[in-house]
Amino acid sequence: MGRLSSCVVCGTFVLMAAISARAYGENPKFVIRESDFVMSQDEALKFSNEVISPILIGYAGGQEGPESLRRRLLAFIQMNKTHEISYVAVPAYYPDRALHVVAKVQPVQSDRLLLAFIPELMEWRSRLSATDFRFAVLIAFAHEMIHIELGQEKHSDKEALKDEGTAWGKTVLEIIRPLEAQGIVMLPEYKNVSSRLKALNDNYEDPRWIKTFRLP
Ligand SMILES: [Zn+2]
Repeated sequence: MGRLSSCVVCGTFVLMAAISARAYGENPKFVIRESDFVMSQDEALKFSNEVISPILIGYAGGQEGPESLRRRLLAFIQMNKTHEISYVAVPAYYPDRALHVVAKVQPVQSDRLLLAFIPELMEWRSRLSATDFRFAVLIAFAHEMIHIELGQEKHSDKEALKDEGTAWGKTVLEIIRPLEAQGIVMLPEYKNVSSRLKALNDNYEDPRWIKTFRLP
């Protein structure tokens, strides 16, 4: 735990202070402008530092729960340190609010951003119990790290649905199932996604599984 804490002090969670529309210009379907901000950058950073970071660091540095989850969070912390990922606390919702996206990996020029949509995370926190919120955050970040492990951010848009199916398949099999097995409280949404995959014999390449995903 000491090692992780000191990393944070020396800037593991280096947050990009400025988010400009230009930064997202490469992907015209995904643009966040300053006019989309629903809070100040400082408020977003404060929530990220005071609520999100302790959840991620606490789990990564602890002993409880599945190692498959811990490994992804340690990778996130490590890749922040080596600048393979730039973590950004975005003071806006994901553009398509109906999708309730809390995090997304986004390549921008030579950089790879992991965006956390802070207003959506705040809503999750007000809606969920402390334990459910904690695991929702952990699963969301681990899921994004699975996208990175699979190198999916380099894929074309055509592959996006299949990529989501694969990433969620691995999220279910490697993270959600072990959490269920350990009796850690799980949200109905995760239980549902887990049983839907089970009904397809855990085959995440099944077209019926893939077509259940909507594209962000
Ligand atoms: Zn995903």
